[in-house]
Formats: sequence, C-alpha cells, structure tokens
Amino acid sequence: MNVQSQIDTTSPHTTEHFDVLIAGAGISGVGAAYHLTTQCPGTSFVALEAQKTFGGTWTTHRYPGIRSDSDLHTFGYRFKPWTTAPIASAAEILKYMGDVIEENDLAPHIRYQHTITSAKWSSEENLWTIEATRTDTGEKRRFTTNFFWMCQGYYRHTEGYTPEWKDMAKFKGRIVHPQKWPEDLDYKNKRVIVIGSGATAATLIPAMANDCAHVTMLQRSPTYFRTGRNAIEIAEQLRQLQVDETWIHEITRRKILFDQDAFTRKTFAEPEAAKKDLLSAVEAYLGKDYDIATHFTPKYRPWRQRIAFIPDGDLFQGIKSGKASVVTDEIDRFTEKGVLLKSGKELEADIIITATGFHLCANGDIEFAIDGKPLDFADTVTYRGMMFTGVPNLVWVFGYFRASWTLRVDLVADFVCRLLTHMKQTGAKKVTPQLRPEDHNMPLLPWIDPENFNPGYMMRGMHLLPKRGEKPEWQHNQDYWAEKDEFPAIDLKDKAFVYG
Ligand SMILES: Cc1cc2nc3c(=O)[nH]c(=O)nc-3n(C[C@H](O)[C@H](O)[C@H](O)COP(=O)(O)OP(=O)(O)OC[C@H]3O[C@@H](n4cnc5c(N)ncnc54)[C@H](O)[C@@H]3O)c2cc1C
Repeated sequence: MNVQSQIDTTSPHTTEHFDVLIAGAGISGVGAAYHLTTQCPGTSFVALEAQKTFGGTWTTHRYPGIRSDSDLHTFGYRFKPWTTAPIASAAEILKYMGDVIEENDLAPHIRYQHTITSAKWSSEENLWTIEATRTDTGEKRRFTTNFFWMCQGYYRHTEGYTPEWKDMAKFKGRIVHPQKWPEDLDYKNKRVIVIGSGATAATLIPAMANDCAHVTMLQRSPTYFRTGRNAIEIAEQLRQLQVDETWIHEITRRKILFDQDAFTRKTFAEPEAAKKDLLSAVEAYLGKDYDIATHFTPKYRPWRQRIAFIPDGDLFQGIKSGKASVVTDEIDRFTEKGVLLKSGKELEADIIITATGFHLCANGDIEFAIDGKPLDFADTVTYRGMMFTGVPNLVWVFGYFRASWTLRVDLVADFVCRLLTHMKQTGAKKVTPQLRPEDHNMPLLPWIDPENFNPGYMMRGMHLLPKRGEKPEWQHNQDYWAEKDEFPAIDLKDKAFVYG
C-alpha cells in the first residue's frame, strides 16, 4: 500500500499555492481530504502533517492495548463501512484510514514531516500564507491558500500532561507518560502504578496486568465507565443475514446513535437512574462485596466527563483476578520506592505511569496573524465551534466528546464543501464570521460550560479557547443529534457571514 506522500521536488524558496490547505492527517484531516475530492472535485488542496505518517492520535499513542473507547461504526466515517468488532485497536484504525487514503487516491495530497509554524492572512490578497518546517531536514516551506481547514486535533502531540508532584526526582524507578511510551519498557514481573482513572488507565491496566507482578490504578477520584460485549447485536444479526456491509454500517450507526441519544437524555433527565445503570454493570463484574462506592462512584453527574467503554469488562476482570487493584487516594509526594499517599500509606513500584492527560492545544502551536496583527483565538467568538469572528476563510474541526469525534468531521466537511461551492458560485473571495446586530448584547461565556462538561485538560486550557455566546449559532453545543439537522440547514446568506 503506498500511502506515503509523493516525492516533493519543489525548491525550499518556492511558494506553492492550493485552493485549500488542511492542517493534520489524523481522522479529521483525512476525512476533510476525502470530502473535498468527492464534494468539491477540481479543488486543489494539500494536507500538511507534522508526523511521519497519517493517523494522528493513533500514531502518537503506542502504549500496550491502545484502542478506541467508542465504537468504530460512529468513530469511522459515514462513507466507509466498519466491518469488525466495534472497539478497535490503533492498528485496526490505522489500517482503516490507510484504506480510505488508498481507495480515494489521497496520498499525493499529503505531505508528511511538515510542521506548520505560522499562518498569516492578508486582506489585500485574500490569502493565507502558511509556513511549515520539515521535521526531517529543517527546511522551511511556504504555501499560500485561499482556505485554511484546521484538522490539528485538540492536544499537543509532542508531550503529554504530567502534574508536578513533590519529590518526583527521588523515585528510583521509571516514570512514563503514555503519550511517550518507550519502546524498551520492560514491565514483565514489575510492580506498576498507573496514575489516572480515564480511558488510558482503563486500557493500559488490563493490557499489562497479566505480565506485571501487579498493577495498581491510583486515582484521586473515580470515573464512570460503560461496559458490555465488544459486539453490536444488530450488526451481528445483519451479517448473519448476509446483508451488504454498507447497509450494516448505516443501520448499526443509526441504532448506536439512537441508543446513545436515549442514554444522554437520561443522564440529564434522570441522572440517578443513569448512574445506577452504569454502576450495576460494574457490580455485575466485581460482585457485591467490592467497594464500588469508593472506587467506581464519581461525585459528578454521568457525562460531565467522557465515559469510556470497557469491552468485555476487561478492566474489571483484571481487578477481580487480583492482578490489578484500585487505590483511591491523593498523592502527597513521591519517595525512592514509589508514592506516599495523603492517607499515610506508601505504594511501592518499579514503574509509575502517569496517565494524567493532555496539554490542550487549540491552534496546533501555529502562530496566527491577520493583516500583520497577531491573532489570539481567545479574543474571538466561535461560530458553531468551527469558525471564529474576525477570522476569514478558516474552519476548525473540533469533534464531539459525548459521541464519536468523527461524526462531526463529516458534518463540518459537508458545511465547508457547501460554503466553498457557494463562494465559487457567487464569486466571493472571503467569508468572515461576525456577530449580527441582534447578537451584540449577547453575554459571552467560556468555550464550554463546566456544568455540562469539565475534563481537566479543558478546565486547564479554557482561557486559551475562543468564547461562546448563548445562542446556538455561537457555540459548540456538543450535541450531534441537534447539529445533524442544524448544519445542513445553515443559511449561508445569514448576516453572521460577511463575504468579500
Ligand atoms: C488514546 C486516545 C483514544 C481516543 N479514543 C477515542 C474514541 O474512541 N472515540 C472518539 O470519539 N475520540 C477518541 N479520542 C479523541 C481523539 O483524539 C479524536 O477522536 C480524534 O482521533 C482526533 O482526530 P483529529 O484528526 O482531529 O486529531 P488528532 O488525532 O490529534 O490528529 C491531528 C494531527 O494533526 C497534526 N498536527 C498538529 N499540529 C500540527 C501542525 N502545526 N502542523 C502539522 N501537523 C499538525 C498532528 O501531528 C496529528 O497527526 C481518543 C483520544 C486518545 C488520545
């Protein structure tokens, strides 16, 4: 399979021009490239990707067991059927994305090892000038583009987030962040502590438990998990009936989305009942005697943080077998042998894994300027979580947290392609979102309502993100079920879009 970029023979001093430039070749960037080729044929475009290959999240993360935490019927694209078990490994997801690239001849459009460093808009030329640095040679590359499609994800790929604990340097063992998993890490028969309670910890623990002497999940506070068989019944039945995979994909997506909608509504309408459903499923694995109240009962309402799916209850099976255990406590400091907890107990370890999350990175560490003036996205108001007031010809893909990210990749792509077609038909060279007269007294709020959704990396980085308004047009509402109807109905002649 030839999915590497074509050989780039341009001189470092030349400026190449493309109608559209895509930042990143993760699931969003590859999706954007597919939709451009199919919905806007004839549009010239390039995707610049900092890493050596496509995949984004699924290339960066190489820790044992790395897998999706939501199903691939909805994390996969709507246009490419997912044909195996719904929770998938990084390798399976990369194979799927590789097939999309190959089947649609997208490889010639992707340049790897190109880190975008700056993006500067000129109103005189109605163009973005994008500078990139080749990570292999250090060469600078310059591009101009009419439209910048930012698919660079939401966290910094080069390093994960590790809190500063007291005396970390005293620990004699190895400290590892899952985002930088060392190839030589030998954990066989070692005592391992995994700090964290999110999807990464829940994936790592069952994947390592059989090889380690013991693995302890050390969490400050518990998280909700969903669990069940790694299978979707309706997909299995349709497959038995030899229904075409395209149909199976669509029907299974609809079923999953229908069920998820019902569950999400329940978390708002009847949070206690939703909580009970989640906790009973955990109890079914761990038994009545296990202290679920301490270790698996969060203090917040379900869905205020992402709920990872635990296929076949493997995390709980690891705990039940005694190979893994959970400690819910706070770290006072590190010691030579491990960590000292606030309760006074010391946990000893050979390896400590800090599954403590990401650094939010809203702009891909790209330096932005509009007509020579540095752009701070925090000074803008978002148009539906994808465009920004005062920022011309730019769309940003920020997916869903309560549903699969990729659902929004497809929706945003439909919108961009419709917008580009509209601009072509009307001869418009630029489109800039702006608040309409009726929006001027609208209170401006932080990007996300912490009452609604509040993971640590969002809370730590909220000041860097654009503002949200109260009206649906001026926020990312995290609601696929509303947006799937609202996005196709967006009136491109609305006063929120200023064309030039
Ligand atoms: C371990 C893990 C599991 C997850 N599982 C799920 C799941 O099951 N379901 C779900 O919905 N979500 C999941 N997520 C969230 C996940 O990150 C997104 O759903 C999705 O992969 C994001 O895709 P993306 O293409 O937008 O961004 P990314 O995957 O982050 O890819 C962005 C790409 O842009 C590149 N890039 C960034 N900045 C620049 C720059 N300046 N110049 C050039 N290139 C740049 C990066 O190198 C990267 O390749 C998971 C996240 C993690 C970390």
